[in-house]
Order: sequence, then structure tokens, then C-alpha cells
Amino acid sequence: MTQGGKLIVFSAPSGSGKTTIVQHLLKQPDLNLDFSVSATSRNPRDHEKDGKDYYFISLKEFKQHIKNGDFLEWEEVYRDNFYGTLKNEVERIWAMGKNVIFDIDVAGGLRIKKKYPKETLAVFVKPPSIDELKIRLKKRKTESDERINMRIAKASVELATAPQFDYIIENNDLKVALQQSHDLVAAFIQKDTSEIK
Ligand code: 5GP
Repeated sequence: MTQGGKLIVFSAPSGSGKTTIVQHLLKQPDLNLDFSVSATSRNPRDHEKDGKDYYFISLKEFKQHIKNGDFLEWEEVYRDNFYGTLKNEVERIWAMGKNVIFDIDVAGGLRIKKKYPKETLAVFVKPPSIDELKIRLKKRKTESDERINMRIAKASVELATAPQFDYIIENNDLKVALQQSHDLVAAFIQKDTSEIK
């Protein structure tokens, strides 16, 4: 892949508020960000639009992309639910002269950091507690109890990876978390990659 702007990864257990943070950052013109739309084999939720929230594709298509080597990273995040970042999605955004922001799972985030260590800022968003996470997921009413329990079980494993990220943002107070996120990203995109160790 040809190099371009910066890569900003926000990873966190489902329900930590990372999507809210990412959506907020996308609205800040000084950051010059565009959202990396992932491909997924899961079904769209009611309000979700193809090409905006995700590229919704079949499991068969997803597996074909894996075979073709089209993904920068991909994960079977939940059983039979595949998610991945297509290389041409990042190239599309870089070609516009913008920085890329990702809302992806912990393993995928770390994989991007490993592939592009200097160009990537990897931020982990930490929920106040597992109990609070459960409350948030229940309030969202998008998932069955079984799926919520699956997400909670995964969250405990994901929390253990937090120290591998460049920064951890504790999302206890959303306003504070938004400000911290903005400051971190603004400082990072101003840096020349040759200055980054
Ligand atoms: P959801 O089903 O709630 O939209 O997403 C489930 C999880 O998959 C979230 O943690 C989300 O960040 C993650 N995810 C979304 N897109 C990607 C991707 O392209 N790659 C990886 N590794 N994870 C993703």
C-alpha cells in the first residue's frame, strides 16, 4: 500500500463509548479525518446504512476477500460475524489527503499499529467497569441477552490488552473523554512521522 496520512485507531470493548468519541472527532475540521468503513458479514441494524456504517457483505464474499488478500486486517469478532478493513478503503481516504480514523476491535487495532507503527496512534477507551458496560449494552437494546453476555465475556479479555496501546482514555465522564481524545489526536497529526520513535 502507498503511504499517506495518519492512522487513528480507537479500540475498546463494545459499549465503552468509543463510537461516540469517534463520531465527535469526525466533526472536528482541524483534525481532517475520514472514517474507515469496515466490511462485515453481520446483518445491518435498523438505522444502519450500507457504505456509511459498514459495507454489509455476505460471509461468502467476505471469505473471498480474505483469499484475495484484500484486507489490511480482519477478525472473526464474534462467531460467524466477520469484520475487516479493506486496503482500498484506507487508500481511498489517503488519496483525499485525509487522516483515517478506525472504530475497530482490540485485536484489529493492535494489528494496524504493528503494520504501521509510526503512522498509527492507537487509543484504548476504557469503560468505568464491567457492570457499567452491562448496563450500557442493555440500555442500547440492540442485542439479545445471549449476545450481550458474549460481548461482556469478550470485554474482560480485551481489557487486559489496554497496556499495549499508546494511550488509555477512561470514559467515566464523556465530556472529559471527548476533550482528551481531541487533544491527543490533534497533537499526533501535527507530528512528522520521522520524529516518531
Ligand atoms: P458492532 O457489531 O457492534 O458494530 O461491532 C462489533 C465490534 O467489531 C466492535 O468492537 C467494532 O469496533 C469491531 N469492528 C468493526 N469493524 C471492524 C474491523 O474492520 N476490524 C475489526 N478487527 N473489528 C471491527
